[in-house]
Amino acid sequence: MSNANRYTGLVDRYRDRLPVSKTTRAISLNEGNTPLIKLDNIPRLIGKNVEIYVKYEGLNPTGSFKDRGMTMAVTKAVEEGSKAIICASTGNTSAAAAAYAARAGIKAFVLIPEGKIAMGKMAQSMMYGAVTLQIHGNFDDGMRLVKEVADQAPVTIVNSINPFRLQGQKTIAYEIVDALGRAPDYHCLPVGNAGNITAHWMGYTEALTENFSFEKDQVVYDAEADAFTGQTPIGRPIMVGYQASGAAPFLRGGPVENPETVATAIRIGNPQSFNHAKAVVRDSNGWFDELTDAEILEAQRMLSMYEGVFVEPASAASIGGAIRDIKAGKIAEGSVIVCTVTGNGLKDPDTAIKQCEDAVMLSIDAELNQVRDSILSNM
Ligand SMILES: *Cc1c(COP(=O)(O)O)cnc(C)c1O
Repeated sequence: MSNANRYTGLVDRYRDRLPVSKTTRAISLNEGNTPLIKLDNIPRLIGKNVEIYVKYEGLNPTGSFKDRGMTMAVTKAVEEGSKAIICASTGNTSAAAAAYAARAGIKAFVLIPEGKIAMGKMAQSMMYGAVTLQIHGNFDDGMRLVKEVADQAPVTIVNSINPFRLQGQKTIAYEIVDALGRAPDYHCLPVGNAGNITAHWMGYTEALTENFSFEKDQVVYDAEADAFTGQTPIGRPIMVGYQASGAAPFLRGGPVENPETVATAIRIGNPQSFNHAKAVVRDSNGWFDELTDAEILEAQRMLSMYEGVFVEPASAASIGGAIRDIKAGKIAEGSVIVCTVTGNGLKDPDTAIKQCEDAVMLSIDAELNQVRDSILSNM
């Protein structure tokens, strides 16, 4: 049987647009190629004439978009002879790092804030066999320690400061442009460490460059010039980044000391790609905004109940923010909007169950009359 049409992950799919050679062995779990789902009910519910799509990144192999970056980071680490990787994480980077390290047969060390990551993510890094270091500190402390220890131990950092991470993550924009045949008018996403919004922008810019060559046309952020190189001005979306109010350095104008939010994936006070993300929003005429935890959870529930798409709290910031800005007219009617929903709802069952106290859940005898009456009284 021919294997020619089997999808084998984004390094193979976009080999000519990534910093790999024809012979680089891809460390892959067939990540990417996620569904772009058009919302049917929410636009009607809010009474606005808009096309909203969610890019469901929770359907990646470890349940978040981090797999896109990790396949590239680990592919390159292995190519360069590394035997161990390390990251600080709010849970999803560690899950992805652990899985791809297992795939590659190398070691993974993950630093996570003790008691502050969702249960599903914890289970993942343990199952995939990472060495899990729970620190008495937050993500930003972990990030600082990872940078320091990389000078003293033979480990490759696979946080998004590793440039290969963003190279992998940019492929999300390629897929969206492929699927829609154009870029959307607006792209909304949650922002934590701010690598993903940066990667989206790189990807959109490159996707819309004709006859793209990696050597000539790849987009990078030049820190000294505070500018992206290789930009073309046409057809890219307005980029909108949403943060949790308790962890919103882009709204406060600088680092936040003790970030706190139910959306643990974006519980970050000192984003590593702060300047990059500011440049993205500036260059695309976009904006940052914030949502309270209550707003985030409401959006999470709404997307589940009205569209059947269950995402984790951080991911819901994109849809919650977009709905608010559509209602306010800040995002115009007639627009095509894509929201990245970054992680799977199953990652964080505790938070989900806690907010479903009003869900209909009955405890009855294993008896026909009771089952029938329960149905008839709840139709
Ligand atoms: C990592 C993550 C984010 C934030 O992405 P950044 O690149 O750090 O801005 C958002 N949602 C989920 C589910 C994540 O895992």
